[in-house]
Amino acid sequence: MKKLAINGGTPCRDITIQPWPKWPVWGKEEEVALIDVLHSGVWSYNGPKEMEFNRLFAEYTGVKHAICTVNGTITLQIALEALGIGVGDEVIVPGLTWQATAATVIDVNAIPILVDVSEDNWCIDPKEIEKAITPRTKAIIPVHLYGAFADMDAIMAIAKKHNLYVIEDCAHKHGGEWNGKKAGSIGDIGSFSYQLSKHLTSGEGGSVTTNNTELANKLDALRNCGRRPEADAFEGVDKGAGDYGDDDGNFIQSGNLRITEFQAAILVEGLKRLPAQNENRDANAEYLNSLLAEIPGVSPIARDKRETKKAYFNFAFKYSKNEFKGLPIEKFRNALQAELGLVVDSSYEPLNNCSLYVPHTKPSRHKLNDVYWEEIDPKRFSLPVCERIFKEQSVCVHHKVLMGSTADMDLVAEAIKKIYEHVSELLD
Ligand SMILES: *Cc1c(COP(=O)(O)O)cnc(C)c1O
Repeated sequence: MKKLAINGGTPCRDITIQPWPKWPVWGKEEEVALIDVLHSGVWSYNGPKEMEFNRLFAEYTGVKHAICTVNGTITLQIALEALGIGVGDEVIVPGLTWQATAATVIDVNAIPILVDVSEDNWCIDPKEIEKAITPRTKAIIPVHLYGAFADMDAIMAIAKKHNLYVIEDCAHKHGGEWNGKKAGSIGDIGSFSYQLSKHLTSGEGGSVTTNNTELANKLDALRNCGRRPEADAFEGVDKGAGDYGDDDGNFIQSGNLRITEFQAAILVEGLKRLPAQNENRDANAEYLNSLLAEIPGVSPIARDKRETKKAYFNFAFKYSKNEFKGLPIEKFRNALQAELGLVVDSSYEPLNNCSLYVPHTKPSRHKLNDVYWEEIDPKRFSLPVCERIFKEQSVCVHHKVLMGSTADMDLVAEAIKKIYEHVSELLD
């Protein structure tokens, strides 16, 4: 009789009896808020819910300005545009991230420079940033990946030394803190996503955050067809939508990248739930990490002491096949998935070989000239650490795993131990 669930044995968790916590989380509050918006007839942009959410999210993140837009891809694009980054400019991005971090750089006609990550925490390696800097470098986009934080002390020091902008990609980090400062409040601009998988969500959506009022004005115009906001829009006074030029009456070129009141209503309620959810996820993750540290062949991602508050989009840990008698990682993930009744995934594909980061499939848009065409070829970058993480180390599960009790964490550890003990069932 085989024991492992993938071979027909009894799984560690029967999800028909013991389902995992649900994501997204919603209740009566969201229902009421959505019906209120419906009845109000104010369904579009710059409504009271959007203004309220912008104010609350800025306050929560510890910045002067937060501005909603359609998703966490457009946030990166308008951040680059607001900073004046475009033709001829290089932007340093980590090789291990969602494709949008690099694709948006190309969408503003600049050149993404892919650099390797640190094996400790899978975030951009400051030493690799230094090596990649040229006279054309204009910005760095660190990504606070999964549970970890990019080393913002090192990154801000490099940026200062070389006069570079920093856009924090915080799509995984709503509420995370570095030395007491929230993600999105450290660089020039923070970029957040509210896509359904993220740990603050309105289905789709995003925010940019900044302490710089001039940048906030530009960002606001960029998401609203190029209309300059009213002079007092950033003192929290909302006069509603309107065609307002800047002091000289100038508009700027852009398009409609606006969020709806329905999304904003959901976000206002979600933000109230976020601090307690983050605390629960952090406590569970700490406990699970302590269990993982005791199991041969798996190990937690290092927690930096400067991470004063954790936020999790996915929970990730490291696998080493040597202790599992050479079991390929795909087979380990599949076996764990069968035990837990939950998707167990790899990390993102490294961007130098990523099926969704393929700028050369769009020559009509991206072949500005032959030189540029070569410069945006992802294959020209070498990312050995990213590749090792993707191919040999990474095990990732959705953050809802962390939203239950410590007993759930015991069960995850048990499932891994079970695979360890019965690994011979998986070897042929
Ligand atoms: C999700 C994500 C984005 C893009 O956000 P969308 O809202 O899906 O467009 C950007 N960067 C990272 C790291 C992400 O995880």
